[in-house]
Amino acid sequence: MDNRVALVKCANYEQSNVDDAVRSAFDLLGGVQNFVKKGQTVVLKVNLVSRATPDKATTTHPSVVEAVGKLVQSLGARVVIADSGGCAYTEAAMSGIYKSSGMTDVAIRNGFELNSDYGVALAEYQDASVGKKFEVLSVLENADVIINLCKLKTHSFTGLTNAVKNMFGAIPGLTKVEMHGKYRTLAVFGNFLYDILGYLGDKIALNISDAIMAMEGPGPTSGTPRFVGAIIASTNPAACDVVGARLMSLDPRALPNINTGIERGWLDNDCSVDILGANINDLIVKDFVTVMPNEFKPFSDKVPRWLQPAVHRMTTRRPVVNRRKCKGCKKCFEHCPVKAITMVPTKKGGMPKAKFDYSKCIRCFCCQELCPFQLVKVRSGIVYKILHRKDGTKVNKQKETSSKNSVSNE
Ligand code: SF4
Ligand code: SF4
Repeated sequence: MDNRVALVKCANYEQSNVDDAVRSAFDLLGGVQNFVKKGQTVVLKVNLVSRATPDKATTTHPSVVEAVGKLVQSLGARVVIADSGGCAYTEAAMSGIYKSSGMTDVAIRNGFELNSDYGVALAEYQDASVGKKFEVLSVLENADVIINLCKLKTHSFTGLTNAVKNMFGAIPGLTKVEMHGKYRTLAVFGNFLYDILGYLGDKIALNISDAIMAMEGPGPTSGTPRFVGAIIASTNPAACDVVGARLMSLDPRALPNINTGIERGWLDNDCSVDILGANINDLIVKDFVTVMPNEFKPFSDKVPRWLQPAVHRMTTRRPVVNRRKCKGCKKCFEHCPVKAITMVPTKKGGMPKAKFDYSKCIRCFCCQELCPFQLVKVRSGIVYKILHRKDGTKVNKQKETSSKNSVSNE
């Protein structure tokens, strides 16, 4: 596996700065012509997890998409912007996300296409570890080249989302939620991510991370934008993630998806990467607010059954909802992969609102991603907090406080 990673400083999202940074990243890896040929259909697989404006740092910034798309287009290739967010994979749902994320404007301005093929293909991958058959977006199946245009963010389940996790968006719409139900532990889920990467194979020519403004705290949708000032690029998504983790002051080996990458042969045991370009020490954000990966039952099976619910609660982070504010839209209820959410009327007999059963909840945090009103917050158990401090990573105090104002419905 190629472990070279281009790292380029970029001070802001001004188009001319981003154009220069992206061109430099390509040049460090041999130039854009190394990855794209005239006449090819190149899909920019962006991160459009939810309907959010670019300033929220939830989605890949449009200026990065524009910079990459223009270079690809200059070689005579067709540029298609695509993703499947945390919603139904339909034109009605995606068109709103294209618009809010700035993709519609970028496409119109530059003559790029927004994906309008909402078809699904069946992937059959005999070398898979866990996912020998799964559904994948047709637009990716039919692409000549995929450029994985990810966003550097914390993630309440996996700890980090960057290049490896971004390809989970190859799974159509709410089928992703089903996959969380099927692949529940971090190790198995991580293996599924590498199955997706393995299936798409060399078609994924390059991974480019928008790490200019990253997300810290309870990502991937409820965190806070944090300036890092970098573009990261590599043909190896796991190497791209190693550099992303280091920029966040995270030990890459603390991340299950990196460890799975080592087991699957994408990285060596030391996670060594060959960084080209900027000095990483100039870009590391020492007080980045990270979150630890969250195994859904880390210790519960090691204690007597009667103690398990309490241990489970104390040792994990869990979703909580402010029931006073809950709009009762049922989005979380309809899509929870293990039916851990019920809609229960308030004490005063008002409209049914979301209530969580933590004995069933697998901590996938899909409800956090899916709530259109961002009312699902994350709260840490007391033991989790202590372990977290011991590991030198931090819980986002501001967000934790706001989640304390939420009503946990245990
Ligand atoms: S309640 Fe939320 S975090 Fe728990 S399993 Fe359901 S969707 Fe996942
Ligand atoms: S998605 Fe949000 S608003 Fe809708 S029922 Fe769930 S918590 Fe309430």
